[in-house]
Amino acid sequence: MGHVFRTETQQLAVDALRRYLQAEVESLYNRDYRDRLVPKDVLGPIMRRLSEFGLVCGLVGEADGGLGLDWPTALMLFEEVAATSPDLSVPVAINTFGAHLLEKVAPEPLKARYLPGLVRGETFVSIAVSEPGAGSNPAEIRATARRDGDGWILNGEKTWISNGTYSDFLICTCRTGDDPRRGLTHFLLDREAHPYEVLEIAKVGYTSQSTTQIFLDDVRVPGENMVGPEGGALRNTLSLFESSRVFVAAQGVGIARRALEEALRYTGERRQHGKVIAGHQLVAAMLAEMAVNVDAARLLTLRAAEMIGAGLPAEMEAAMAKYHAAEAAVTVSRQAVQLHGGNGISREFLVEKLARDALLVPIYEGTTQIQQLIIARALTGVAAF
Ligand SMILES: Cc1cc2nc3c(=O)[nH]c(=O)nc-3n(C[C@H](O)[C@H](O)[C@H](O)COP(=O)(O)OP(=O)(O)OC[C@H]3O[C@@H](n4cnc5c(N)ncnc54)[C@H](O)[C@@H]3O)c2cc1C
Repeated sequence: MGHVFRTETQQLAVDALRRYLQAEVESLYNRDYRDRLVPKDVLGPIMRRLSEFGLVCGLVGEADGGLGLDWPTALMLFEEVAATSPDLSVPVAINTFGAHLLEKVAPEPLKARYLPGLVRGETFVSIAVSEPGAGSNPAEIRATARRDGDGWILNGEKTWISNGTYSDFLICTCRTGDDPRRGLTHFLLDREAHPYEVLEIAKVGYTSQSTTQIFLDDVRVPGENMVGPEGGALRNTLSLFESSRVFVAAQGVGIARRALEEALRYTGERRQHGKVIAGHQLVAAMLAEMAVNVDAARLLTLRAAEMIGAGLPAEMEAAMAKYHAAEAAVTVSRQAVQLHGGNGISREFLVEKLARDALLVPIYEGTTQIQQLIIARALTGVAAF
């Protein structure tokens, strides 16, 4: 199940990564650590190896130690990770977003200190925007940063923060002013120097990776740990969303594609009514629908990736890709469960896990409803929020 338009170089890169994932990741994530958190000392060597294939470092410029890959290639590689293990794709995605933020907006000393570790796959970052009272609308953030001499004192609670347990540092959005939109600022907290409390959240999907609550209790950070200008966090977050949503779309593509692959294998082997079930017309129709959904999701994702890579505004296209691919992951994985019959809900088969993981994709990086509002706003010029 592959891309239609891959250059020879892209194909070689994808094939090499696929061989590694098959050999070292597939059974580790889908069997040994299925439904339990992969410890950091197990994840660490995988992240270092993935960086050799262009994950996390791919889009970072060569001047900053990255590979300077084009966007479609980076997304093709990322899809392979998601198709092998949606769980593993989360730390890869979050470290990619962290590297992007550091490269684009951090002052030089912070960039020099924290970007190289991410690029080499040696460190982990968390990005903390969401709070118990601020989800779809980050302008409602209440965590505070109060000036204290040449530093800042941070207080508040963040929730749903990916990578929390693994994180060596945190890029946290805090309120530094009353203006809902211009009163938000990013700070970098080094876990050793500026300790923050992390609690794992038990959840239905992505059970092998870390999603956490983070508590800030009078954490003091120096002024030079501000990332981007004071009051610039919302603008920087919104511009990061354009890129990050394309990666989340690729996660959706990866999950949907894997579910289709599992369904093709099963329906080609399972026999009922005297033939393999793939030979029954209703099953064939479902397989065709699933395949079209996967390809449509991938094409939307690669279009948005091409546009971002070309420096074009792509807010609507990124929202379309995220919206469609996230919903495709849910629909296609659910169909794959159905095509497995009773085996579909057994832990012996991967599709039940894919269906659970898929449920999460329409929620983070902007819910499906938020993507719909963004698309409609671009079409009509009328903002619903
Ligand atoms: C697995 C996972 C990982 C995550 N990782 C991170 C992370 O690393 N960092 C981080 O900061 N956050 C993270 N999040 C949080 C995520 O960004 C939020 O869950 C998301 O923004 C939705 O916020 P909420 O959960 O508070 O839902 P709410 O905003 O309360 O939304 C609830 C429902 O209301 C709908 N809704 C809300 N507003 C509107 C509106 N104006 N119009 C129509 N419908 C609306 C939503 O679509 C949704 O269906 C993660 C979440 C998950 C599930």
